[in-house]
Amino acid sequence: LTAPPAGTAPRRVLTVAGSDSGGGAGIQADLRTFALLGVHGCVAVTAVTVQNSVGVSDVQEIAPPIVAAQIDSVTSDIGVQAVKTGMLASAPIIHAVAAAFDAAGIGGDGLPLVVDPVCASMHGDALLAADARSTLVEVLFPRATLVTPNLDEVRLLTGIDVVDEVTQQAAARELHRLGARWALIKGGHLRTSDRSPDLLYDGKQFHRFDGPRMDTPHDHGAGDTLAAAAAAALAHGHSLPEAVAFAKEWVTRALAAAYPLGAGHGPVSPLW
Ligand code: PLP
Repeated sequence: LTAPPAGTAPRRVLTVAGSDSGGGAGIQADLRTFALLGVHGCVAVTAVTVQNSVGVSDVQEIAPPIVAAQIDSVTSDIGVQAVKTGMLASAPIIHAVAAAFDAAGIGGDGLPLVVDPVCASMHGDALLAADARSTLVEVLFPRATLVTPNLDEVRLLTGIDVVDEVTQQAAARELHRLGARWALIKGGHLRTSDRSPDLLYDGKQFHRFDGPRMDTPHDHGAGDTLAAAAAAALAHGHSLPEAVAFAKEWVTRALAAAYPLGAGHGPVSPLW
C-alpha cells in the first residue's frame, strides 16, 4: 500500500474508537497503522480511557451527539473511503454512530465498514457496557462489511466457545447470520498449536489465513492494528480477502516487533 504523489490527497479512513493514554491500542494504534499504510486517518472519539501498560483505571465517555457530530463533520467535508469501529463504550453511542453512518452512506451497500467488536481490554477492563453487547450485534453487525472478533468476543457476543476448526466454522456462520457480510474469526487465542489460524466467511465460502502464533506478552493493540490495516487496504481498493490477508501479515509483523513498556503488557510495534 503506497502513499500518493506529493501534493495530492491520500485516501482517508475514519476510525470511531477510544483513546488509550498509554499509546498502545485504540485510536493511537489505528493512526499509526494508517500513517504507515499511506492513508490519512480521521477520528471520531467515543471515549477517553485512563490507561497504561497495567490496565484501564477510568473511562470518560463522549456524549453520543458529539460522537455522531464528529462522523458528520469528517464525512461531509473530508470524505473517507473506509471506516473502522473499535471501542464504542455504550448502547447510546452505538445508536448515535449507526444513525451517523446511515446519513453518510457508511456500511451496508455503502462504504466499507470494519467492525472490531471490542468488549474488554486484555486485562478484563470493560470497554463496552455488558448491556450494550446485544446492541452492538443487532445494530452494527447488519451494517458491517467485516467483523473481526477474537475468541473472547465470539463467546461474549454469540455464546459459542471456539475450541477447534468445527466450532470456529460454527461461529463464522453465526456471525454471518447475525448480519455481517464477512466474518473473520481470529484464531490467535486458540491455544491448540503454535499456529494462529484465522477463518473468513462470507456465507458461501471459507477462506483460511494461517500464520505463526506469536508468543509475546507484548500484544496490546493487536486487534486494533489488524482491523485498522484491513480498513486501510479496503480504502486502497483491495478486495475483502486481499485486505484480510494483508492485515494478518501486518499484525504478525507488528507482534514480532512488539516491545516492553511499563510494568505490564507492551504494545505491538508500529514497525519503524
Ligand atoms: N483500549 C482501547 C481504547 C481499545 O480500543 C482497546 C482495544 O480495542 C483496548 C484498550 C484493548 O486492547 P488490548 O486488548 O490489546 O489490551
